[in-house]
Amino acid sequence: MHASYGCRHAGACCSSGWAIALEREKVDAIQLLRADRGWLLPAPGAPTEVAGVIAYGRGGRCVFHRDGCEIQRASGHDALPSACQHFPREVLIDPRGIFVTLSHYCPTAADLLFEHHGPVEIVAGPPAVPGGTPEGLNAVDVLPPLLTGSMLMDHEGYAAWEAHMVQTLTTRDTRSPEEALAILDGQVKSLQRWRPGKSPLADAVRNLRDDCADTAIPEPFVSVTFFPVVKRLLAAHAFASWMAYQGNGLPSVVRKLHLTLATLRMEVAGLRDRACGPLTASALKDAIRQTDLQLVHLADRDHLARRLSGWV
Ligand code: SF4
Repeated sequence: MHASYGCRHAGACCSSGWAIALEREKVDAIQLLRADRGWLLPAPGAPTEVAGVIAYGRGGRCVFHRDGCEIQRASGHDALPSACQHFPREVLIDPRGIFVTLSHYCPTAADLLFEHHGPVEIVAGPPAVPGGTPEGLNAVDVLPPLLTGSMLMDHEGYAAWEAHMVQTLTTRDTRSPEEALAILDGQVKSLQRWRPGKSPLADAVRNLRDDCADTAIPEPFVSVTFFPVVKRLLAAHAFASWMAYQGNGLPSVVRKLHLTLATLRMEVAGLRDRACGPLTASALKDAIRQTDLQLVHLADRDHLARRLSGWV
């Protein structure tokens, strides 16, 4: 559902008032577009490879955003600051490879959740960050995700669980997002009873049953028409999840999915307070964008991981 992503110049990332760090080696090419140096502001305390941050004007709009990005138009994607090359990509790098999911704060990425038809699978994608070097959570030299508080998974087992989450969240269109998460809750508990010696963890994942946990399942807050859209959002958060490494592994990943759904529920409730009538696709898209703005871009993700792991 994300593999076809390409910037449609919606401009959300260029008008959010974010400090866009610029790497030193890109300054000269961009300077050719400007007579003065007012477009580059100092960034005290930034890493040495950063020359400064790009200025923004009224409404938090980047000074290069004029009917699209001037830099990209003049010099191509390679000339963009690394932050702009990455957005809306969320990158996880671990010994298995480089994994990319998208932030749906980007309106184009959010549209893909609505436009997709057919199954959702983990696929080999295009270059992770076109024109740039993928950066994100680098978990290459750390231990694999935890299965329980005292047992690690192997990477093959975690890959099977990642694929399993995506499948559980995106099959059965009439299954509510709440029910899908309840199933994953039960399956985490079941998987945590696995012990080494008999069969690989990946096999145990593949043999999980689709039973629901014996807890009460909350009422859905969107109509069945939007179940697939909301579950695709959850699947995008399940894949390439930093929480697998930042938190306490499997339980933290699923708790983060609950947090995503709860945040979306609050955003939808806020919209309903302001407008009467049934939830529209456009309103749901706005709620999804605000959800990812908070969880992907504004939240202190280390702190979030500690909270979701019960460490603070
Ligand atoms: S440099 Fe270009 S892509 Fe980056 S924020 Fe500015 S206008 Fe947008």
